[in-house]
Amino acid sequence: MSAFDTVVVVDWSAGKRQPEGPRKDAIWTGVARAGRDVAQDYHRGRREVEAWLDDFLAAENAAGRRVLAAFDFPFGYPSGFARRVTGTDDPLALWSWLNDRIIDSETGENNRFDLAEEINRLFPGEGPFWGKPSVDRWPDLPYRKAGIAYDVVPERRQADLAAKASSSCFQLFFNPTVGSQTLTGLPVLHRLRQRHAAAVWPFEDTEAASVVFAEIWPGLIEPAVKAALASSSAEEIRDQVQVRLLARALSALTPSDLRVMMADVPHEAREEAWILGTGHADMLIEKTSGAQLTPPPLSNDCFALPQGVDWTPVDQALRLLRDRLHVVTAVEEVSLEAALGRVLAEAPVAKRSNPPQPNTAVDGYGFAGGRGEGPHILPLIEGRAAAGVPFAGQVPAGYAIRVLTGAALPEGVDTVVLEEDVRSDGAAIAFFGPLKGGANTRKAGEDVTAGEVILPEGRVLTPADLALASAVGLARLKVRKPLRVAVISTGDELVEPGAEAGLGQIYDANRPMLLALMRQFGFETLDLGRIPDDRATLRAALDRAAAEADVVLTSGGASAGDEDHVSALLREAGAMQEWRIALKPGRPLALGMWGGTPVFGLPGNPVAALVCTLIFARPAMGLMAGAGWSEPLGFDLPAAFAKRKKPGRREYLRARVRAGQVEVFKSEGSGRISGLSWAEGLVELPDGALEITPGDPVRFIPYASFTLG
Ligand code: AMP
Ligand code: MG
Repeated sequence: MSAFDTVVVVDWSAGKRQPEGPRKDAIWTGVARAGRDVAQDYHRGRREVEAWLDDFLAAENAAGRRVLAAFDFPFGYPSGFARRVTGTDDPLALWSWLNDRIIDSETGENNRFDLAEEINRLFPGEGPFWGKPSVDRWPDLPYRKAGIAYDVVPERRQADLAAKASSSCFQLFFNPTVGSQTLTGLPVLHRLRQRHAAAVWPFEDTEAASVVFAEIWPGLIEPAVKAALASSSAEEIRDQVQVRLLARALSALTPSDLRVMMADVPHEAREEAWILGTGHADMLIEKTSGAQLTPPPLSNDCFALPQGVDWTPVDQALRLLRDRLHVVTAVEEVSLEAALGRVLAEAPVAKRSNPPQPNTAVDGYGFAGGRGEGPHILPLIEGRAAAGVPFAGQVPAGYAIRVLTGAALPEGVDTVVLEEDVRSDGAAIAFFGPLKGGANTRKAGEDVTAGEVILPEGRVLTPADLALASAVGLARLKVRKPLRVAVISTGDELVEPGAEAGLGQIYDANRPMLLALMRQFGFETLDLGRIPDDRATLRAALDRAAAEADVVLTSGGASAGDEDHVSALLREAGAMQEWRIALKPGRPLALGMWGGTPVFGLPGNPVAALVCTLIFARPAMGLMAGAGWSEPLGFDLPAAFAKRKKPGRREYLRARVRAGQVEVFKSEGSGRISGLSWAEGLVELPDGALEITPGDPVRFIPYASFTLG
């Protein structure tokens, strides 16, 4: 059997048509492909979801995708029921029989209790259907179960017993009930099956069908649903979580898992149907975590430098990083609440236009058409339109209506006059023209139209982006998991901040700085502490870092000296390059791979460590995090200093802007941590020789420009 390209899970409801906007106890659909969530949608009623499924199945078919459509109500009744009702054991004949008799109106009012009575009359004694909203109505439908013998047909199917489902398809009222869902659902399935040539599992051979219907039951994955609801920060609707996880799990199954599940049915299932996944709940639950899309790992030689190069210019080093690195983080879907600062994995598309309807931009009076020069008097009609409270009627030509900012324009209104420009006695308004047709209104979709891409892939989400996503109907976004960065300080001389420091010891300054910087970029940090200059200990730390993180930042021990164990270990691993970059302050920078994880071996000196991180590690990590390569935004401003610079390497000076001029820190000494803190950014001086006199333009890059993406 070929696998399914798409899974759609439908959470049915027998209730009345629901108001607009996501609610529980309505109909939800969840779509997934290859173990990844595609969408969950809310449908107001059965008519809406039938039309939606028609479109959906037709579109999947047109795209050449094979679909498994799973519904959460029984596809059949207990053995013997079909024959007594239709004269045959064929459950699909029963679908057709029900389709001929169920009347389901647009509002969701239907004749299911009347039909249940009619069926009960075909059986001797009480039942089998029972349960209704009123004790007195429908005399042939018992109010309670007591007194029904279930001797002609059993109360429950084999499938219900095996899945330990709590409800019977004969119970039409009182929770938990699936009886009404079955009566209202099967006619819809009958029609969809005919229109899309669907094969129904396990009644029919599904091998060659491009659409397969199957019965499912969310109770099978209840532990996963409970866990998801408990860990979700936003108040999620249970039905939505159920369809999301079920669709994800079913589409993450391997073809052979699915084959096993679909083959594992008892004899009775031919008539009674079967719940897909019964007896395999653990496998389904495991698959609710989905198939994580993990990009391929980086290659071991990705930091190799061209042969024979002595000092690598900064730009060439950056180009090498840019060419050799790629995104390494997996994709997940999060609510808007959790999306700030995350990287978009996929460009989101507007579900709805903004504004969704034409509306008024001001408080005033609305009517049809512009008005010429001179005075105008228009009679007012009763009522008003306000934001969220539209006016239901029609405004006749020549009349005006009171409108408040944000209100949808009533029918017959396309122009609004400002309240301040009007005199009114409550019965009519008077104002002076001219006024253009369409004045003071906003057109539907004038900002964003439905179907439009609203933000690019790789975007680091801002608060404004969340407003935009929400306005166009999106509640969840596909983002990258945060890049995990391990930070290690090396050196025998280092002690923990706040600890007793003896002679020759210094406090670890790099780790607090680097961990904070990584958090500012939105990364997840793994603090691996201070490691003494001891190869075995450092090796163990690197092993742990490579296993748990996507990138490792070490500081210290990156030169070629006896105690420089970071470079020694990376060289030993065969995937190390000592990048002698023509950069001040900064050298040396050791770049290598440890167990497939890139390691940035930063210099120990805090000034050099920060400059190397901002200039090299930051854009490289942005690329790995999915945000793409980005250059920091700099400004050419007059220098407030004089300096003579030799050719051969690029220089970064600690700098800040005062009175429109760039000041640099009094000392270029790279041990001066106070200068990093004094500065508000860096001045970048080009590789060549340079003589700067006060007033000459220099490139200032604010610290704030060193962002992700
Ligand atoms: P190294 O690259 O290990 O030779 O270190 C260069 C200089 O930076 C030495 O003076 C170290 O003491 C100093 N250093 C190394 N790591 C740190 C750190 N985490 N915090 C402050 N200074 C450090
Ligand atoms: Mg050291």
